[in-house]
Amino acid sequence: MSKIKKVAFELKEYEFPEPFKITGAIHTKAENIEITVELESGTKGMGEASYSYRVNGEMIASLLAMENNVNDMIKGVDVKDYRKIFDIIDGFSRTAPSVKAGVQFAVLDALSAEIGVPVYQILGGSTNRIKTDKTVGIDELENMVEKAKKYYYTEGYETLKIKVGLDLKEDIKKMIAISEATKGASYIVDANQGYSPKEAIQFADATYRNGVNIVVFEQPTMWNDLDGLRLIRQNSPFPIAADESAKSKYDAYELIKEGCVDFINIKLMKSGISDALAIVELAKITNTKLMIGCMSESSVGINQSVHFAAGTGAFTYHDLDSHILMEEDEFRGKFKQSGQEITL
Ligand code: MN
Repeated sequence: MSKIKKVAFELKEYEFPEPFKITGAIHTKAENIEITVELESGTKGMGEASYSYRVNGEMIASLLAMENNVNDMIKGVDVKDYRKIFDIIDGFSRTAPSVKAGVQFAVLDALSAEIGVPVYQILGGSTNRIKTDKTVGIDELENMVEKAKKYYYTEGYETLKIKVGLDLKEDIKKMIAISEATKGASYIVDANQGYSPKEAIQFADATYRNGVNIVVFEQPTMWNDLDGLRLIRQNSPFPIAADESAKSKYDAYELIKEGCVDFINIKLMKSGISDALAIVELAKITNTKLMIGCMSESSVGINQSVHFAAGTGAFTYHDLDSHILMEEDEFRGKFKQSGQEITL
């Protein structure tokens, strides 16, 4: 009865009330695919694919066109044998990782409903409580400072993610201004590949000398410049994280082996559940730290990362805020949230 009867894809659009600007992109809306896995028993599980052309090279039309193929590939397989399903669709890692993530989670969600155990407990049940940061996109200095103050003082987010990478001198000024206006906060600074290695080292040096409490310096340079990333790591007082450089478990292995990173930013939309699980173990073996991030998931997609993060208990930082930056008619996460506090 717990065999898969049907997989359905549905396109959903969400607006960002304020355009969200990062190096290399401005997001005004999200186009996500909601993925429903229906079992022979009638039980349903739900997942979401929030695709990325910038990071994964994915295009929405080709992802939507995969619906029939996915049905052909996993129809009739029992969700209790979920590893089998993970392996069947593992080839999507290179072509459609967001669909891989959404299908893999929907399978776990269907299993969860079938056996009455929440997904985070199927994944290990390490904790039932995590804290997320909130992100300040690229904007004029005054606006970034105002947002940072609002998120830190009014809304209570202790860790702020700050987007930089377009203009080194401006970025240093912005970070110092934000730091002075939100004393006591921690910052995850994300350059989204915007700096050269030399610029990244200058950024780290200037902000460090001004006492800016950067806890993670994320993807300072181009995804394929591993030598550059290593050079920055060796010359930065702040821990260096790979995001765009670290999509699959193979990328993570290479980055760690080559001494390029202190942190890996896992996103289910880059790795799916299966590669994310592998990276968690790899990080444990090598004493690498982990953070978990998101693309433009709604509460349905953020739910996936919340359950993954709580189940594995593997993450030092959680950057799971896309759903609160977009407009959504109805909250559909299987978790509770009050500001930075997320509970299951
Ligand atoms: Mn990033």
